Amino acid sequence: MNIKKDLFIDGQWIKANEYSHLTSPYSEEVIASIPIANEQEVNLAIESAERARETMKKMPAHERAAILERLVSLFEKRSEEAAEIIALEAAKPITTARDEVARTIQTYKFAAEEAKRIHGETIPLDAAPGGEGRVAYTVRESIGVIGAITPFNFPMNLVAHKVGPAIAAGNPIVLKPASQTPLSSYFLAELLQDAGLPSGALNVVTGSGRVVGDKLVTDHRVAAITFTGSPEVGIGIRNRAGLKRVTLELGSNAAVIVDKGVDPDKIITRCVKGSFAFQGQVCISLQRIYVHEDIYDTFVGKFVKETQKLKIGNPLDPKTDVSALISKGDVERTLNWIEEARQQGAEVITGGIAEGNILIPTVLLNVSASMKVSCQEVFAPIVIINKVQSTKEAFEQVNNSRYGLQAGIYTENIHTALDAAEKLHVGGVIINDIPTFRVDNMPYGGVKESGVGREGIKYAVEEMTEMKLVVFNRN
Ligand code: NAP
Repeated sequence: MNIKKDLFIDGQWIKANEYSHLTSPYSEEVIASIPIANEQEVNLAIESAERARETMKKMPAHERAAILERLVSLFEKRSEEAAEIIALEAAKPITTARDEVARTIQTYKFAAEEAKRIHGETIPLDAAPGGEGRVAYTVRESIGVIGAITPFNFPMNLVAHKVGPAIAAGNPIVLKPASQTPLSSYFLAELLQDAGLPSGALNVVTGSGRVVGDKLVTDHRVAAITFTGSPEVGIGIRNRAGLKRVTLELGSNAAVIVDKGVDPDKIITRCVKGSFAFQGQVCISLQRIYVHEDIYDTFVGKFVKETQKLKIGNPLDPKTDVSALISKGDVERTLNWIEEARQQGAEVITGGIAEGNILIPTVLLNVSASMKVSCQEVFAPIVIINKVQSTKEAFEQVNNSRYGLQAGIYTENIHTALDAAEKLHVGGVIINDIPTFRVDNMPYGGVKESGVGREGIKYAVEEMTEMKLVVFNRN
């Protein structure tokens, strides 16, 4: 072990009372020593953010943008180092980790641009009797201290989706990254310090979700919580947050529909990538595929062949497509779910076993909607492919879910595409692509147990600002 980190509070690296070992999900070797903050240490971080509030609020937009622009160039210079950190702590295959860093840079660029266009509108008060002779406009003011709680699966880019808009909108932040992926956030703290962010505007506190998370969620000085993670934790946060603004980006069991008339050769590689990228540990990972009966057999044959070409191995090897799951517990859980499906009549056509902590990419057929591999979020390299007789049946299957983040449909028929756009109950319908499509300026978020609120810088800025109305009486 050669890395030791301290808490980042008020622009200083602060020793914590307690540390724990961070291990690689792939090799299980210890890779770093990480502080475990207690409630008093989280309190210091909130105090420091509260002190930085006025500085951030008064900072002109061009300065907030300039800090984010400098962050972008520091990220560009150190992009390979950033990708290696993600690969090491999350076991994300290095090529996928590089893609994440490229997207992180995009996200901060969008945040730098967005900082310059936060504005309100004028309101025609004379539209109401009694409103004559009055001029009214709204402004968007920074909301205050943001508590950001992030998951392990995109440790740089999903942090960027919170820290970028928070700075753009003039808010200080206390960031609590996932316990498995703290190094990415400490790396960001270093870069933002070099980029000239005032002390206290970003504080990073690692430690148990229950201790650190609870303090952030219940402390009255924290104005807004932005959380990305599992529905179980997200719902608990919402229940405890009182009147705080709460944005929840939660899980899903995302689906794609493949209509008759679609050429499987054109979409197979993309569907395989959507199912197995980062071992399926992506909130919009492709988990359920509903294929029209006319092309079902051809689709399944080609999908399985392409899946079997994926290379498993060390995340730091550029040839690796699929590496270890985030924890041993997840390997056991997913093997149990596969076994349950098998016992209830599903067919495991490829995969279904683990090598060390790597679950071999798995394809299941004839899965019923009540099996865990279908109705729960698998968050693993497992995909089900079911036959449907019509798109109407497929829409019903897709909507038969607790979740509703994004859904995709491949179709050559414009009427079917428009029907899908109308009937699928999700935050985003993606026509002629997988549900896994995301770029970082689009509104992103879910319905049902997939969450509340939207990210995608402009939309996150709305969540992180308060609208204020100003009325001039000229009578
Ligand atoms: P998780 O277990 O819910 O953890 C997410 C974060 O919450 C971590 O920082 C965790 O800390 C913290 N936490 C745990 N218990 C808490 C509590 N009681 N109060 C406050 N915070 C608490 O999720 P994960 O396993 O890291 O990530 C996978 C999940 O995230 C999946 O469900 C996935 O779909 C979802 N996700 C959603 C999106 C989206 O945009 N919709 C994107 C990516 C991921 P510890 O690590 O210390 O436990």
